[in-house]
Amino acid sequence: MIAKNRKRRVVLLGSTGSIGCSTLQVASELGDDIEIIGLAAAGNIIKLAAQARETGVRHVAIGDASKESALRTMLPAGVKIHVGSEGLCDLASLADADIVLVAIVGTAGLHPALAAIEAGKDLAIASKEILVMAGEVITTAAAKRGVKLLPIDSEHNAIFQCLDGQHGGEADVTRLILTASGGPFRTLPVEEFVNITLAQAMKHPTWEMGPKITIDSATLFNKGLEMIEARWLFGIGMDRIDVVVHPQSIIHSMVEFKDGSVLAQLSRTDMCFPIQYALTWPRRVMGGLKPLDFPSLAKLEFEAPRTADFPALDLARHAGLAGGTLPAVYNAANEVAVDAFRSGKITFPGIWQCVAAVMDGHSIKPSSSLDAVVYADGEARKEAKEWIHRLT
Ligand code: NDP
Repeated sequence: MIAKNRKRRVVLLGSTGSIGCSTLQVASELGDDIEIIGLAAAGNIIKLAAQARETGVRHVAIGDASKESALRTMLPAGVKIHVGSEGLCDLASLADADIVLVAIVGTAGLHPALAAIEAGKDLAIASKEILVMAGEVITTAAAKRGVKLLPIDSEHNAIFQCLDGQHGGEADVTRLILTASGGPFRTLPVEEFVNITLAQAMKHPTWEMGPKITIDSATLFNKGLEMIEARWLFGIGMDRIDVVVHPQSIIHSMVEFKDGSVLAQLSRTDMCFPIQYALTWPRRVMGGLKPLDFPSLAKLEFEAPRTADFPALDLARHAGLAGGTLPAVYNAANEVAVDAFRSGKITFPGIWQCVAAVMDGHSIKPSSSLDAVVYADGEARKEAKEWIHRLT
């Protein structure tokens, strides 16, 4: 339990990325409430060192061991550098930390997240991939250790807010309704998907994000990953998780209750909102965030997603309903396919063709052990690379 009058000490994994930078902005606006005590990145040492000087942290971690000595020359004396995946786990278990915020893209944040839970730290999770890959392992470990999982993803943070203070719990919920912007190709005819370029896919209509999630938003894999993420964060079956397209991205998600009432959370399209809420929960504090100006919102629109043209949603529902190691395979194959699309090896529709093929060939195993999901993840990556290799 954190004393009311002391700052929350936060370790930030993935500090140099889009969520990492937004988190540092929130922390600088909430200097009386939040103190950043550790930072981690993969290899961007220039940005990491600048952040370390600005925040005054005494601990940093770097994924790429070959950059340790160069980083040393850029840091003030006395800052400890933790190196590699073991170093990330050490940083995530720092004795002084209250919360570890995981914003590492992909699944490299899985072991540090588990180390943080093991050390009794609350976990603020942006890295949806780790919950899709190992949701059962993470939620079981968190429940056992009594640590809180605080969602950063705007949709899950919205649902978390809508469920706060609902005394009937999960039994009162009929549906979680995730909103989706629809991405840049919401209205593009399906025949044109094959010609979509990387530059077109990187232009998200409402959010500014890192490259992988931007492509995931264009294919709707991001929403598929979020469906499975919601299943684990809120303990709700996949059959009660729906998606509605809402192009303005003002409503971040909704919860429908058994009496027919629907609660929604609204705010500007700024990730600082959910980050702030997760880091200060259960309190609400005044930060530097601008409120909505309702008269200037022309309209809020809703439409059904084009599931036949964007198969990522049906593939996610299938993975989530089948369960076991299939969600890990869905995620891993997608990561490989997104990389291949970014390097020009496959077309845009090739991303879900690759994922569907790898899922088809997978024989599902239980997902209760970390070894099983790590193995399924590795095999799926191998299969996806072979599928891509056969095309090229
Ligand atoms: P970015 O690509 O912008 O940033 C990724 C961060 O992860 C960077 O700091 C990168 O370091 C770090 N990183 C990558 N691999 C490693 C590693 N092996 N060890 C340590 N650090 C590593 O991603 P985003 O910020 O956009 O997304 C991060 C996560 O948050 C993703 O899972 C995404 O789905 C989720 N998310 C993002 C949202 C957004 O608005 N951006 C919204 C909701 C969820 P380096 O810079 O050195 O490469």
